Amino acid sequence: MKMIRVEGVVLREQPIKEQDRLVTILTKEQGLLRAFANGARNPKSRNLAATSLLTYGSFSVAESSSGTLAIRESEVKESFFSLRENLVALSLAQYFAEVAAELAPAGDPAGEMLPLLLNAIHLLSLGKKDPVIIKAGFELRFCALAGFMPSLVACASCGTYESETMKFCPVSGRLFCENCTPPETFVPVSLSVVYAMRHICFSEPNRVFSFKIAGEAKEQLEELSERYLRVVSNHNYKTLNFYKTMKR
Ligand SMILES: [Zn+2]
Repeated sequence: MKMIRVEGVVLREQPIKEQDRLVTILTKEQGLLRAFANGARNPKSRNLAATSLLTYGSFSVAESSSGTLAIRESEVKESFFSLRENLVALSLAQYFAEVAAELAPAGDPAGEMLPLLLNAIHLLSLGKKDPVIIKAGFELRFCALAGFMPSLVACASCGTYESETMKFCPVSGRLFCENCTPPETFVPVSLSVVYAMRHICFSEPNRVFSFKIAGEAKEQLEELSERYLRVVSNHNYKTLNFYKTMKR
């Protein structure tokens, strides 16, 4: 039996039998990892806390000869407890977890994905930053990390860097200037939206959420980043519907 040590965030916990759990963890080293936590739902279990949804922990995992993983020991590094006091923040964090479970690689290093997720959940738990900015930042940057970087550098047709209004195609992720006509469905966007999207995709990892946007531009960014994520992941996010119910 081989033992491995990983750190990561619990994205999903499924009850198995009477007291067991099957957890999906986003780790830096191995991307998505699915492991059984036997007895973890027993209130006395030492693995109860660290195998709970949205917990950041370190785990000692045993790998059987058939490849099945079982958590032997675990330790909570951060439980983001204050998320439980704010249902909008909590539902958004659950949505981020579902996005990560959908788009992160399994078995391959997940690079910047884990720090991005941790940063987003941390900001949500602090409750100081506009959730709409955290949401758009997480969605677009996660898409980019998962191999779906939108083409935001210049007009896809003539190469113009910017024009007063531009056109964004949420299906292809391409950008066009005001003089070019995209061959695909597009939405006219203001330059503030273009700047925000460029910032999210191209900034240093620790600066992803450091931008300002307001009014109509903010609404547009919110809608477009969500639509783009839905298209590239081709998945209907249940947690997103829940977030929208909470937000009302
Ligand atoms: Zn153009």
